[in-house]
Amino acid sequence: MKTRITKLLGIEHPIIQGGMQWVGLAELASAVSNAGGLGIITALTQPTPEDLLKEIERCQLQTDKPFGVNLTILPTIKPVPYDEYAQAIVDSGVKIVETAGRNPEPYLPQFKQAGIKVIHKCTSIRHALKAEKIGCDAVSVDGFECAGHPGEDDVTNMILLPLAAKRLKIPFLASGGFGDGRGLAAALAMGADGINMGTRFMVTKEAPIHDNVKQKMIEATELDTALIYRSFRNTARVFKNSVAEKVVEIEARPGETKFEDIQPLVQGVKGRELFDGGDLDKGIWSAGMIVGLIDDNPSCEDLVARIVAEAEDILSNRLREMISG
Ligand code: NAD
Repeated sequence: MKTRITKLLGIEHPIIQGGMQWVGLAELASAVSNAGGLGIITALTQPTPEDLLKEIERCQLQTDKPFGVNLTILPTIKPVPYDEYAQAIVDSGVKIVETAGRNPEPYLPQFKQAGIKVIHKCTSIRHALKAEKIGCDAVSVDGFECAGHPGEDDVTNMILLPLAAKRLKIPFLASGGFGDGRGLAAALAMGADGINMGTRFMVTKEAPIHDNVKQKMIEATELDTALIYRSFRNTARVFKNSVAEKVVEIEARPGETKFEDIQPLVQGVKGRELFDGGDLDKGIWSAGMIVGLIDDNPSCEDLVARIVAEAEDILSNRLREMISG
């Protein structure tokens, strides 16, 4: 398949692995890139900008294909030296960046000067148009189905993607709710130039997380996610475990919730321990509604090949028969 995204990024298949805190390590990113998609290393998973540089080098040893780095700018418990992470990305020689969260405008001049292509993840059309205006090369349009932060508008991709197709000039990826060939074919039909998947790539052989987490996601249905941080206008979709249910309950109590009331439950380090040790109620972890469609743990290569083959079959057989018959 050739789309504006495969051409822009120099990749074989229009499938991108989105940034994921604690999951976007060199093992996964290189496996996705070697499978012909675009793997992405998550910057803030590395404790310092120096560690990020080392992780990028580790990835460069594992693939000679393009890969990118995600830089997410959202509220954090400890202040993050974003400028230093951005500089580390430039210094690394990586040529693709996925920004997410706040407006990436302050970092665009240095990224552009270094010849880096910037894909900004947006949860609304107004943010996508702004990203286009400030010079982003592409956007990832993140519907309400997505894992992590879906924004506060609650609009699904059935509406967002056709709107993006009507209004944007730059290429865009469909993100949130994608994990199979039907999804890829539908995204292309709605005007997208490819798909961005996070949750689906968590359940692959190369994803660096405990098998208990992968098994739980295989067993899960589409009803097994929860929305937290609604009261802080920093909504996140996470797997519905006992910790997420406790956070929802605290936020629903009358009166204002203070972040301190939930911080011990949600801190990122607990999520990391959960991924490492497999204790499913240790903390919270991001997961999208697509968990309902995940039922195996393939290699990235098998997954990407299967999604592309399914999508091609739908586009060239099922749909063609409908219009030619
Ligand atoms: P962390 O331990 O600093 O914070 C844990 C969670 O609490 C994060 O989701 C954070 O956004 C939220 N949070 C922190 N302070 C807050 C405040 N004052 N008000 C409201 N919410 C607050 O974060 P981490 O787990 O180390 O993750 C690092 C960064 O990556 C965070 O910005 C996080 O949001 C982001 N992240 C993004 C995604 C995504 O879907 N793009 C997924 C996971 C994490």
